[in-house]
Amino acid sequence: MALIEQLEKSHKEALDGLKKAQNEDQVEEIRIKYLGRKGVVTSALRQIKDLSSDQKKAVGQKANQIRNQLEEQIKQTKSDISSLKIEEKLKETTFDYSLPGKMPPLGNKHLISQIIEEVVEILVGLGYQVAEGPEIELDYYNFTALNTPPGHPARSLQDTLYLKDIKDSKKPKEEVLLRTHTSPIQIRYMEKHNPPLYIIAPGKAYRRDIADPSHTPMFHQIEGLAVDEKLSFGDLKGTLEVFVKRLFGEERAIRLRPHFFPFTEPSAEVDVSCSLCLGKGCRLCGGNGWLEILGCGMVDPNVLEEVGVDSEKYRGFAFGMGIERIAVLKHGLDDIRRLYDNDIRFLEQF
Ligand SMILES: [Zn+2]
Repeated sequence: MALIEQLEKSHKEALDGLKKAQNEDQVEEIRIKYLGRKGVVTSALRQIKDLSSDQKKAVGQKANQIRNQLEEQIKQTKSDISSLKIEEKLKETTFDYSLPGKMPPLGNKHLISQIIEEVVEILVGLGYQVAEGPEIELDYYNFTALNTPPGHPARSLQDTLYLKDIKDSKKPKEEVLLRTHTSPIQIRYMEKHNPPLYIIAPGKAYRRDIADPSHTPMFHQIEGLAVDEKLSFGDLKGTLEVFVKRLFGEERAIRLRPHFFPFTEPSAEVDVSCSLCLGKGCRLCGGNGWLEILGCGMVDPNVLEEVGVDSEKYRGFAFGMGIERIAVLKHGLDDIRRLYDNDIRFLEQF
């Protein structure tokens, strides 16, 4: 049993050494001294083969146990020393880890998207559903079905961006253009759905305009369409009143002025009372107290009949507005072209 005692003694010495070790080199020295090829423990293990066979098993087990323990303890000491080193390094550095971090700049939604979302939210709250349609549109949906027959001035080349040379086209119905308003969505929707229906259609529209402070060739519209039994002009006015107050504030009033649109009869333009003078008249509203915001009217029976809706039974109203115009009114923009300049200093204000 002398061999076991010798191993236990060596083990104890090795542990004492590990306790005193200051760095990884000292730990490595201990490992070589006891577990290296010529190490104390290794040499003792080699002597086991000379023992009698009945001792071999007991001594062998014990010796392996000691070797495994020592290996584990050396590994542990090395890892303790290295984590201690990291802590010391952290203490040495002057960096203050408790300081707040730098926030990366966050993007925000474009003003146009914000206004579209706001308008959609108000109208969805009133029971409308969102409908969508293509920006590249057929003449039929953009004009003919909306009571704007061939020869109407709105169809002229000065106003509309046609995608094919219309002089070569033998079939007027197949003319392809960029939609000049979002109204074709109403026709496409009514072709597939029966009344009662309450929809809003937000989207881009295109006209052959030279860009100036209040016009861009591409702009955004949002339209509402309601078709139901017994709808009256009073329902239209009530809807717009609720809508305008939610969008601009409870203190604002609306007024309707008679107007003409091909696809509604009667039609009106809607003004909102000026944000600055609330109707009294000031510089912002040009002295008349009101600012124009949208167009509306009762859907022309011809439009309903065109999509197979019984105009004796159902009546409809529609309203449409320019999103850029609302941006101007809500934020006092002096030039809508700024919305498309991609100048972050301008856009991040909203
Ligand atoms: Zn005013």
